[in-house]
Amino acid sequence: MHAAIFREAHQPLAIESVDVDSPAEREVVVRTAATGVCHSDLHFVDGDLPAPPRPMAMGHEGAGVVEAVGAAVTEFQPGDHVVACLSGFCGMCAQCLSGHPNLCTARYVSRSRGADPRLRLDGDGIIQFADLATFAEQMLVHENSLVRIDPDIPLDVAALMGCGVLTGLGAALRTAGLEAGQTVAVFGCGGVGLSIVQGARLGGAGRIIAIDQFQTKLDMARNMGATDVLDASSGDAVEQLRELTGGAGVDHAFEAVGLPSLIRQSIEALAIRGTATIVGVPPAGASLEFPLDAIRPECRIQTSRMGSNRFRTDIPMYLEFYRQGRLKLDDMVTRRLGLEDVNESFRAMKAGEVARSVLVFD
Ligand SMILES: [Zn+2]
Ligand SMILES: [Zn+2]
Repeated sequence: MHAAIFREAHQPLAIESVDVDSPAEREVVVRTAATGVCHSDLHFVDGDLPAPPRPMAMGHEGAGVVEAVGAAVTEFQPGDHVVACLSGFCGMCAQCLSGHPNLCTARYVSRSRGADPRLRLDGDGIIQFADLATFAEQMLVHENSLVRIDPDIPLDVAALMGCGVLTGLGAALRTAGLEAGQTVAVFGCGGVGLSIVQGARLGGAGRIIAIDQFQTKLDMARNMGATDVLDASSGDAVEQLRELTGGAGVDHAFEAVGLPSLIRQSIEALAIRGTATIVGVPPAGASLEFPLDAIRPECRIQTSRMGSNRFRTDIPMYLEFYRQGRLKLDDMVTRRLGLEDVNESFRAMKAGEVARSVLVFD
């Protein structure tokens, strides 16, 4: 089968022929139908994050149809429609058992060291990004990285659930614990930021202020439920935001890009007792210097990992919202491309042209 392979930072991914092992006891082979293109892949390609082991098969936001299952798999059978999620969990560690499987500390969904590799390129084992590798015609993954979904949900839309949309919705509805009527600001309106806007709308936010430097993204944010938009390229976003809120600031500010300057703005935007939730992944080695007196009384600053998800229950719940018309997923997919267009999808993401590109397979 074919997969998009990362060899060196700043080089385009190469589409190469890869051999897939047969599924071990609790593994599942999935015929990939669609995969979203997320910023985390681009971070590696652009060298913003420490270089992973290479070569590596990329992609981590996929959906497809189960082809084969290992002998001990009971959850899934061939023909099931599934979404793959990078919050693979063990179900046994302290984080899993306390209801936080998104923070699972076990490397449970990987094959153990010394075992045969799942994927081979020219005979040598290669790494799967997030133990998934969704930029590929087939995925061989642990069953705890998958959730079954209703077969009537389009798989190109469902794929978005594996990372960006799950993260954004969960940041608002789970991590932040948004209350109805509260005021929200979202810094950065890519796929994750737009999903935070939708999460805030679903959670009953009183006012949702979207901030971005691209007008196309601000238009998308309005479509997703933003009540106000601020163009960050036309002056200080925090000043604009304070003006908009009569000086009060916001109850919840979300940072969706991972830029220290935006993280700082999200803290400065807070009202008294406000909460800043940092959702974006900052580049390696990034730091933030900050005047502490700029923080209003009793504010909280927290991070959100993958939207504090419990994906086995959250993804079907969010897809039910989609079915009811309350969650806009069709509008999140700006472009559909083939696997061979993966590098073009990175370019479009950097240019701010898309909410999400989705690679679809025949
Ligand atoms: Zn991602
Ligand atoms: Zn665990």
